Amino acid sequence: MVPRRVSVWGATGSIGCQALEVMGRYGEAFDVVTLTTHRRADFLFEQAKRFCPERVVITGDVERGAWEKAFGKLGVTVGWGREELLDAASRADTDLVVNALVGGVGLEATLRTIEAGVSVALANKETLVMAGEIVSSAAKEREVSILPVDSEHSAIFQCLQGEDVGSIRRLLLTASGGPFLGRDRSALDRVTVEEALAHPNWSMGKKVSIDSATLMNKGLEVIEAHWFFGIEPERIEVVIHPQSIVHSMVEFVDGSIKAQLGVPDMRVPISYALTYPERWSGGYGWLDFAQTTNLGFSPPDMEKWPALRLAYEALEMGGTAPAVLNAADEVAVDLFLTGQIGFLQIPWIIAEALERHEVVSNPGLDGILRADGWTREIVLNEILSHLRG
Ligand code: NAD
Ligand code: MG
Repeated sequence: MVPRRVSVWGATGSIGCQALEVMGRYGEAFDVVTLTTHRRADFLFEQAKRFCPERVVITGDVERGAWEKAFGKLGVTVGWGREELLDAASRADTDLVVNALVGGVGLEATLRTIEAGVSVALANKETLVMAGEIVSSAAKEREVSILPVDSEHSAIFQCLQGEDVGSIRRLLLTASGGPFLGRDRSALDRVTVEEALAHPNWSMGKKVSIDSATLMNKGLEVIEAHWFFGIEPERIEVVIHPQSIVHSMVEFVDGSIKAQLGVPDMRVPISYALTYPERWSGGYGWLDFAQTTNLGFSPPDMEKWPALRLAYEALEMGGTAPAVLNAADEVAVDLFLTGQIGFLQIPWIIAEALERHEVVSNPGLDGILRADGWTREIVLNEILSHLRG
């Protein structure tokens, strides 16, 4: 078997690490081409020792000299900065790229990868949230596959194998509800960063953990599902399912519902994206139905979780609105993580940014990036001062 040549953008993050771990289990089946990190050069160096990539890219502000030398001794080329990441993304010498970057920075890397004719295993949901239309049509034009890594989208993708998209009635995206599911809305203004980061079922990067606590993660996933599967927002429903065993479902026009179940472990959907259309043995834990009782399902409370409502609204507004939602959320989450705003101020800031934005319909990439930059500036320079009164 010829090894598949795979690159991992954001290799040192939660998804990136797990993607490498999955590839590591399959021995010679994968050759690692490029790995990237923002600042964790030391960890990237450990990964390079184990996975022998051809090159690495470090995008953040890291002392160059010593690392250049250390990677050089391993025979690994080092690239520096965002331009080198985009340059690596433009190379056609790879079969598949796992895009595990966090944030809007992932969008251009995805687009460059598609333009190079390389398939993408997409964890970076921001790519489709910001520019779903542009990315989907670029992939279609270049005949490139975008494979979902997000567990919900992987579940739906698996349910749709062998099905006609025209026979879908609804997509049912499950949501754990995060750490504050049982808490009164009135108590949410006092939650701490540590509490918000402590997800009951999944261990993830900080941004997606906070998004799970506000339910913005589910909102972003609704937008992601719209572009992945071409289903209108009215036919994408969110269902609260605290156990995270059913990863999502598809209801068909004949009344049948298909669901994908499994232990909550991201290595399962990552493995499916890496080995698609095959399934290779995993062994990340097996569901025990003697223990798996009382699976619960309920509708989300849109009053308590305004972030979810805002995501539906941004999707309806269309054009640049989802990019504004995404950028405002990124800045607001960062402000929360650094102790500058409270938990309930996250959705408040996003609502304010959407309110102030004049939507541009059918934007090109430039228009999307302008809206992204505008939002970051308006949140930091105007909305934040307004909030501080
Ligand atoms: P993370 O924070 O753990 O890792 C992010 C990676 O991106 C790191 O390698 C980091 O070095 C790199 N990075 C950060 N900022 C960067 C920048 N400005 N430029 C270049 N590289 C940068 O994040 P994660 O939890 O692994 O999430 C990655 C993506 O996958 C997100 O879009 C998230 O929504 C999605 N996702 C994550 C999970 C999960 O379980 N962690 C599940 C589903 C989807
Ligand atoms: Mg998810």
